[in-house]
Amino acid sequence: RRTWVFVPYDRINDRIGPLAKLAPAEAGLILIESHAKGRNRPYHKKKVLVVLSNMRHFALEQQARGVAVIYRNGPPSYGEQLLELQRELGLPSIHLAEPAERELRKDLETWQAKGLDLTIGPDDAWLSTAEDWSAVFGDEPASAPQVGGRGQRQFLMERFYRYMRKKTGILMDSPTKFVGGQLSFDADNRQAYRGEVPVPTRPSYPPDAITLELIEWLSHNGVPSIGTFDGFDLPVTASDCRAYWQFALKELLPNFGPYEDAMSSREPMLFHSAISALMNVSRILPQDVIRDVADAYDRLQLPLARAEGFIRQILGWREFMRHIHRVTDGFRTVEQRPDPPSNRSANEYSALLVKERNDAAPDRPATPSALDAHRPLPPAYWGVPSGMFCLDTATSQVMFQGWSHHILRLMVLSNLATLCGFSPRELTDWFWVAYVDAYDWVVEPNVLGMSTFADGGITGTKPYVSGAAYINRMSDYCGKCRLDPRKSTGPGSCPLTALYWSFLERHQDLLGSNQRLRMPYNTLNKKSASERTELRNRAERAIRQLEAGDLVD
Ligand code: FAD
Repeated sequence: RRTWVFVPYDRINDRIGPLAKLAPAEAGLILIESHAKGRNRPYHKKKVLVVLSNMRHFALEQQARGVAVIYRNGPPSYGEQLLELQRELGLPSIHLAEPAERELRKDLETWQAKGLDLTIGPDDAWLSTAEDWSAVFGDEPASAPQVGGRGQRQFLMERFYRYMRKKTGILMDSPTKFVGGQLSFDADNRQAYRGEVPVPTRPSYPPDAITLELIEWLSHNGVPSIGTFDGFDLPVTASDCRAYWQFALKELLPNFGPYEDAMSSREPMLFHSAISALMNVSRILPQDVIRDVADAYDRLQLPLARAEGFIRQILGWREFMRHIHRVTDGFRTVEQRPDPPSNRSANEYSALLVKERNDAAPDRPATPSALDAHRPLPPAYWGVPSGMFCLDTATSQVMFQGWSHHILRLMVLSNLATLCGFSPRELTDWFWVAYVDAYDWVVEPNVLGMSTFADGGITGTKPYVSGAAYINRMSDYCGKCRLDPRKSTGPGSCPLTALYWSFLERHQDLLGSNQRLRMPYNTLNKKSASERTELRNRAERAIRQLEAGDLVD
């Protein structure tokens, strides 16, 4: 008799979870495609492809290993299909690792209450456990912060990362001594890219018969989606995923660190690994990634700063964010300020789909907005040109590819939204549907926490905001833009600088005493009343134009 194991869409690997403990002849694998999931949100077409094509290839790979496979494709949710299956086939308890996504956990709980018999074990695709988190931060829940006030619960990623380095022994000379004598080499990673080092050509994996069949099926079944199938070239087999990671390790990582924060219109992907979509469905495992990077350092193939910088992203940031989501129950324990209903234009088709879904959901998504930001996300995010080169470059890349690197997410897309006061929930939902690597445990803490400060400072110590000077320094965008980054007011000025100062002015009560913002507030306080009014007017004009879907001028 076989032990039946449910492997969800984001744990497609036989080296983790209950499947890892079974010989092929003892294992039964259940894979499920749920139309309910696909209809929940208008996901990017390339995300749907990368997930489903990897799942279908995984099914064949497991069959070839001798595992019995049940593959279901149906309208109901995962939990409902599992219960149907259990009843139809008389299956005993179905085994699985604790789901990573809150949404899936909730779905399964609903059907467990109706009779679904599950045996849920730990999820060893993570590098850390709830106990690790508690060892660093204690057991106190992360609940409703008083924004910026005393008693604010704050979690510093660095503390967690320090603990994780010691726990795993990665890049350690001894149990307490970090290789190179320090925890982090972050300061080395601040260069703009001017073409100094050529960016290697990435391997491309054009659609095979299975992916083409999916494209055909998805095109004719009215599944709501955004983006395009054109140009899909992500790996979908286990061996191609492995080969892609080896390419990233050998060819990209040696230059990742120095150009990590750079933005280039000629080289949109620069030296970023772009492994997140594959790692978030477990085709590439984080434990392999950090081990390979540490080995490359040991073999002198990677300098320490490069190796440490990359390991920090995964052993530090990725694990940290997932725990933030867990301890805030997806931010539901944070003070809620629901967005007031807003009128929308017809071209915000996708935003409407998301909103309808949110309104219909019994378990409404969290809408913290510590900065009281409630403006609807403007059409520019859905691909309508804004005339701001940085924004249009970012959104057209995302609409096509379903991916952009971290700094475009943080310092272009989120920065503008935070400065303008666009709703953090709408921004989160936009990221969730637009990116191939978005899942609730990672997209919600990154947007509601790190990038917009909607959580009031649980995740980060201050909002990540900047004016035009930062974009000009770190990218080649401003040279190609109609708007001048050196001018902050008047016709043809880049609105980012005016938006930045009026943002600080608007939130002075809340942020004025934040030590990390002392310098900009000192500068703001020296500005005359008329200068401030001019900046405010410039900022408001840009917001009105963005909201109307007009070009910013
Ligand atoms: P690299 O730059 O090569 O970094 C390597 C890996 O480190 C990434 O693949 C990722 O797994 C991990 N990592 C780095 N930073 C983070 C972080 N802040 N949180 C979690 N993991 C991190 N990442 C997602 O995987 N899914 C998302 O939906 C997502 N949404 C984001 C939204 C915003 C507003 C911001 C600021 C960041 C978001 N991130 C998200 C984090 C990060 O931007 C992406 O993981 C990264 O850009 C993916 O590209 P990469 O694989 O080339 O990463």
